[in-house]
Amino acid sequence: MSQEVKLSKKVSDFLSGTKKIFIGGQFVESISGRTFETYNPATGEVLAFVSEAQAEDIDKAVVAAKEAFEHGPWSKMSAAERGRLMYRLAQLIEQHKQELAEIDSLDNGKPMREVIENDIPNAIGQFEYFAGWTTKIIGQTIPVSGPYFNYTRHEPVGVVGQIIPWNFPLMMAAWKIAPALATGCTVVLKPAEQTPLSALYLAELAAEAGFPEGVINVVPGFGETAGAALVKHPDVNKIAFTGSTVVGKSIMKTAADTLKRVTLELGGKSPNIILPDADLTKATPGVFSGIMANQGEVCSAGSRVYIQKNMFDNVVSDLVTYAKNVKLGSGLSPDTDMGPLVSKEQQDRVVGYINRGKSEGAELLCGGSHTEKGYFVEPTVFADVDDTMSIAREEIFGPVVVAMPYDDLDEIIERANATPFGLAAGLWTESLKNAHYVANRLKAGSVWVNCYNLTDPASPFGGYKESGFGREMGSYALDNYIEVKSVWINLN
Ligand code: ADP
Repeated sequence: MSQEVKLSKKVSDFLSGTKKIFIGGQFVESISGRTFETYNPATGEVLAFVSEAQAEDIDKAVVAAKEAFEHGPWSKMSAAERGRLMYRLAQLIEQHKQELAEIDSLDNGKPMREVIENDIPNAIGQFEYFAGWTTKIIGQTIPVSGPYFNYTRHEPVGVVGQIIPWNFPLMMAAWKIAPALATGCTVVLKPAEQTPLSALYLAELAAEAGFPEGVINVVPGFGETAGAALVKHPDVNKIAFTGSTVVGKSIMKTAADTLKRVTLELGGKSPNIILPDADLTKATPGVFSGIMANQGEVCSAGSRVYIQKNMFDNVVSDLVTYAKNVKLGSGLSPDTDMGPLVSKEQQDRVVGYINRGKSEGAELLCGGSHTEKGYFVEPTVFADVDDTMSIAREEIFGPVVVAMPYDDLDEIIERANATPFGLAAGLWTESLKNAHYVANRLKAGSVWVNCYNLTDPASPFGGYKESGFGREMGSYALDNYIEVKSVWINLN
């Protein structure tokens, strides 16, 4: 393993001492005094101790968020002032990107280079993009019958609970917080228990940017306690969730009791299809990174690779070569291509799928092994897979290529859509006609043609079917945080 980057003093200081919950503009201990550990997945060692939010802390955070929404300076600020604070936060993320990258790499395991090149610019982009929206959220004047003046106001929905996963800790926080702030909502954010640290660092930056107390609250804790309390809380007006489909379904049921607005960004089993007319010099590496990026821990990962049968063996042999060349290591080592998985639990889950793949009769062409120290899993390629096997149907969320041959275009469109998920899809072709033909027929919230896993703060992202509903990013994301009020004035 090559030399790791030396941690900056700020991050060493940040990691020492228990990290507290951020409520009402203050870092506070949990009411119970309980803490939990977060681990460095490259070593399995404890990285930091974190105060554990439970129902009573969630209640305290919701009270703070409600006060800020109803009576605080936030609700009296102009839209332009809100936007300026968001720009300021974007600038502070830029200024502190080294620390944030070290923290996310340590907490999640991913290569620091990727955090610097992808996660941080994306997070900054969210705050900049949505800062621009604050002054552009406008209603309509409507020509109703009779002597009445009718118009709509687009009002913030109120206190929003946001629950995020561990695969892009800072970026997911930004995806959630930025549109909520733009509309004038206040936020209680629950980061994943595996990766709570960068959201707490972001809270420090938000305080420095000058956000009034209670506007952003960060409550680290576990799903069944802190997360569930947020979903149940009667003063939370909306839940935005990103995570597994199983948990998304249970959140929707729980939220029904208080009829909260809910948006869900859930799992996927996204097809990535190489058409016979694809340029393989781009398609093969594109398909490979479509599944391997971020250790395969991406909800939109191209986890079902379909290759036309005449080119199947060639493409698969190249995928195996790429897989064998991936350098596993600590996210802090500059030459690491792929870090460990986030946790022992995740490693066990991925290894479990690899074992099921083998026992169900798929052919393991390379990889498949894992480490005892640190939660690494070798990039793995399976061939001889059919659509009924669990590795072809269920979300693995790890570095596992599942390669399947097909005959013709209409067959592959049908097979690509034969899944309960519908988050994303990719296709590789040099034909404009085929690109549109297939893109129009795929039932997925994002379709990438000759590229994969691209996102931009201005472009919507979200799922069809059991991949959830509601769109993050773009103007569409604002709808999640807005109530529409129709006002009638009698002109008689
Ligand atoms: P994963 O299985 O990949 O960890 P989860 O869907 O379990 O994904 O977790 C995503 C987020 O949802 C995390 O912040 C987690 O704490 C939270 N969570 C898990 N279970 C619940 C629940 N029952 N209610 C609310 N939040 C939950």
